[in-house]
Amino acid sequence: MSNTLLNVEELHVHFKVYGGILKVLNDVALKVNEKEKVGLIGESGCGKTTTMRAIMRILPWNAIVPKAKIYFKGKNIMKMSDSELKKLRRGSISMIFQDPTAALNPVFKIRDQLFDIVRYTNLEVGKNLSKKETEEEAVRLLREAALPEPERILDSYPFQLSGGMRQRVCIAMALASAHDLLIADEPGTSLDVTIEDQILRLLKQIVEEKRTSIILISHALGAVKGFVDRVYVMYAGCIVESASTSDVFREPLHPYTKGLLAAVPKLTGGGVPEGIKGRVPDYMNPPIGCRFVTRCEYAMPICERKQPRMINAGNNHEVACFLYGE
Ligand code: SF4
Repeated sequence: MSNTLLNVEELHVHFKVYGGILKVLNDVALKVNEKEKVGLIGESGCGKTTTMRAIMRILPWNAIVPKAKIYFKGKNIMKMSDSELKKLRRGSISMIFQDPTAALNPVFKIRDQLFDIVRYTNLEVGKNLSKKETEEEAVRLLREAALPEPERILDSYPFQLSGGMRQRVCIAMALASAHDLLIADEPGTSLDVTIEDQILRLLKQIVEEKRTSIILISHALGAVKGFVDRVYVMYAGCIVESASTSDVFREPLHPYTKGLLAAVPKLTGGGVPEGIKGRVPDYMNPPIGCRFVTRCEYAMPICERKQPRMINAGNNHEVACFLYGE
């Protein structure tokens, strides 16, 4: 029996903007198995957050989804009714956003915000918690997110907490409803590096203990390396490589992944790396063929004409590049 939890196929997302249509996501496909930790890496603006928002069906008003198959436990999310979506977001999938300050409402105490989530997620499974039970559950979630003095946190406004504490509150909120899949969108990027490290360690410990699947989105390769089992690499709205974490870091295949890894500064010295030359393509007029063609040192005539499809290069290491065949 398949243990696939989430299966995304042929996901295309465009945005209607002044002056035209931005064709951002282009045929994105990814899978997450039960209890699996998956990383999605790529530079800022490559479509990682858009992919996750499409999965949660929380894209902004100007988004157009011309084609998408998003199956969660075999059910197509794209065809879910509002009540089914509510059930999904309250009981199965939850998302932690990059900026905890923006994710919390500044005019309500944490108590009000967390209580609502605890109450409604429990109502979804038929449990009508009393005020005392709601408080006990909220305190338990805050403790699970490694927050000291949970009673004091409940009585605080978001501005009275540090950035790291606010993100832990967001983790506690996500834990209330993420029984199957947690999506963490660069959860430590807006924090300083030591706090980011603590947040990532906490998330890893929680998902391993609760045996929940996670998609960790990051542009920082080091953040995913010690965390996830499998990595998807995204470039300009396309998945270009997918493999086990060890294979991607030991033997990257796609020229973009190679460039991304070579761009990481080394503590052993050797100067500042040059990075990948050129710029991401214009989403209004993306290349017809490979979207990396203008920056790729191995580009061939076919790369301009045709889009490379994902092929298995062995050992479930998949890559979308003509260097490895059609
Ligand atoms: Fe480079 Fe062509 Fe491979 Fe694209 S398909 S990464 S342009 S070699």
